[in-house]
Amino acid sequence: MSEAQHDAIRAYYHTLFAAWGCQHWWPAQSRFEVIVGAYLTQNTAWTNVEKTLGNLRKARLLTIGGIRRTPQPKLAQLIRSSGYFRQKAQRLKTFVRFLDARYGGSLVRMFGRPTDELREELLALHGVGSETADSILLYAGNHPVFVVDAYTRRILERHNIVSAKANYDEIRELCEQALSETLPPKRSLDGAAALAGPRGSCHRPSRVSTAPRPALAQVFNEMHGLIVGVGKTYCLKSQSRCDQCPLQKFLPEAK
Ligand code: SF4
Repeated sequence: MSEAQHDAIRAYYHTLFAAWGCQHWWPAQSRFEVIVGAYLTQNTAWTNVEKTLGNLRKARLLTIGGIRRTPQPKLAQLIRSSGYFRQKAQRLKTFVRFLDARYGGSLVRMFGRPTDELREELLALHGVGSETADSILLYAGNHPVFVVDAYTRRILERHNIVSAKANYDEIRELCEQALSETLPPKRSLDGAAALAGPRGSCHRPSRVSTAPRPALAQVFNEMHGLIVGVGKTYCLKSQSRCDQCPLQKFLPEAK
């Protein structure tokens, strides 16, 4: 990995943050809600996940105990709006069984594990791939792990930073190394300002988004949110809206 790649990723971060500011990820009231959201968002839009989380909250089941005591078929019906609902119900039950068996039902104990060891344990769970494991580690556990998603890959590929052959962990390590000495931004807690104007993939500040976390975890948190903002609005799969994108000046042909 070259210094030029690192410089480019750092420049994207500073440019996007200057344009859009804090993204206030993850929009959740508890760490367990982040975990449930990380499972539910697999292969579906976040708007569907929000609806499902609302159903679970209304039924007072958006807790470890709630998922534990709800029979799987009933849970599947409650999360129907997120798609693949039987599969996702089974996966949520598997996670809680793992948490109970390995950590006595305690997220504090679970997230107290060293990052690499917990990552391996999460990846061994049925239905947990790299992106889900890293979302849980970063957004629920405040572990300094960079979440690579399809947007990250697409943007870095289109800017010739990574090749199409690069695997998940290569891109993750590249981003982690590039941002490893970046200072965290000053966090704005102004919810109205957060939602005014085009601001990437900004959410309203939440209990989870405003919680204290290590500096590096905060940088990775913001960078992933900023990248989602680029991917959702400008760097679409079928079309690149480069003329409006804050990263246009970094395109290889623009240099
Ligand atoms: S839309 Fe264009 S400028 Fe923006 S990230 Fe994608 S390729 Fe780069």
